[in-house]
Amino acid sequence: MEKSELDFSIERLGVCSIPSPVQGIRFMDDDGRVLYFSCLEEMQPWLDSGSPPPAMEAAGPSGKIFFDPSRIACGIVTCGGICPGLNDVIRAIVLSLHYHYGVQKVYGFRFGYAGLVERLGLPPLELTPDSVSRIHEIGGTILGSSRGPQEPAEMVTTLEKLKIGILFAIGGDGTLRGAQKIAEEAKRRGLQISVIGIPKTIDNDISYIKTTFGFETAVAEARRATYAANTEADAARNSIGLVKLMGRDSGFIAAYSVLVNSHVNFCLVPEVPFSLSGFLEALKRRLERKSHAVIVVAEGAGQDLMAKTGERDASGNIKYGDIGIFLREAISDYFKQARMEINLKYIDPSYMIRSVPANPHDAAFCLLLGQSAVHAGMSGRTNMVVSFWNHQFTHVPITLAVSQRKKIDPQSMLWNSVLAVTGQPDMI
Ligand code: ATP
Ligand code: MG
Repeated sequence: MEKSELDFSIERLGVCSIPSPVQGIRFMDDDGRVLYFSCLEEMQPWLDSGSPPPAMEAAGPSGKIFFDPSRIACGIVTCGGICPGLNDVIRAIVLSLHYHYGVQKVYGFRFGYAGLVERLGLPPLELTPDSVSRIHEIGGTILGSSRGPQEPAEMVTTLEKLKIGILFAIGGDGTLRGAQKIAEEAKRRGLQISVIGIPKTIDNDISYIKTTFGFETAVAEARRATYAANTEADAARNSIGLVKLMGRDSGFIAAYSVLVNSHVNFCLVPEVPFSLSGFLEALKRRLERKSHAVIVVAEGAGQDLMAKTGERDASGNIKYGDIGIFLREAISDYFKQARMEINLKYIDPSYMIRSVPANPHDAAFCLLLGQSAVHAGMSGRTNMVVSFWNHQFTHVPITLAVSQRKKIDPQSMLWNSVLAVTGQPDMI
């Protein structure tokens, strides 16, 4: 890892000179840092050269803040696909701004970045502690979401008109790239607007962030699908349960689902290529041996086996072929030709997984994420995301968070554990 890749310096709008109005909690030391590495061996080159090892700012409330809470409004926007916990994060931000800092106006922009463009006629909602009090009990986002690009100049004009001091952008890699452009445009115009990202990715694929909110809920929900697949597969001879889970470029949900339900026999993820014949032959051997099998496939796995769709969504993301349907057909054809009668049950719980409310762990996680985002914004930090790293909430520059996608390393402990549980062979 190059040292320059690990620059976690956070941009600031200016000096913090206003005493924080936050009562009854311990302020953070502004120099608090969380180590990037957790193993001594990885850190050794830095220690040998006498330079401080890479570390992220620890999140939390500062004794002195940048913004005068009585003079700013704040805005919240959610973009991209939905994810468990979005409403929890919105609620946590509104409550913290109101009760901790006394910010009087919080706007909720409607339907993603489109809600920041005045000419599109989507006036923002005013969010108050009363209006958000029970929103964490429901899934989705009360603000609505969207895909598709908007002009940073138009969005910043809206922020300026509404006297927004801090914009909280909750979304995935696309949203964070958009947030970065808004921060740059505000800076170009000399406006003091802080842009704080809260990473939302059910796939858990954003770099420099150990876990993202909603991921644990997603794995818990996915377990219901793998449980059903296993129960079905167990109940008849030569039975196959096939479950497709989310995971466009990173198979974390699929991998963790295997660990929480160790009845799964094959886990197919985008990071580990396989050939159709290798997979089908291994499946046949498994059926001959055990008479049933459970397969979990991440949506981005095996894309090289199918014809490209050639389509993109409104944000320019490539539309993937449906690997679940593809495998269902391929498995049926293969066993028909092999004159072996099988019983195949296909389960695709994708939209059911992402639409549920956050589970207790995620609810607490979202609350702390939202509060950390508010503290970061009030201190005038900008162009950053709130991360969770080495068991603590931290700050990461947006540039780093979107620099590359986080993927499963096939050499890692995680993937090795998956292989140890499934016993699946190399299927190239
Ligand atoms: P998901 O994980 O659901 O894909 P996402 O945030 O990546 O979430 P996108 O639809 O890709 O979802 O992007 C959300 C918003 O961010 C859209 O309005 C999109 O136009 C905008 N956006 C995406 N990429 C960029 C970019 N490079 N620059 C500016 N805006 C962007
Ligand atoms: Mg995305």
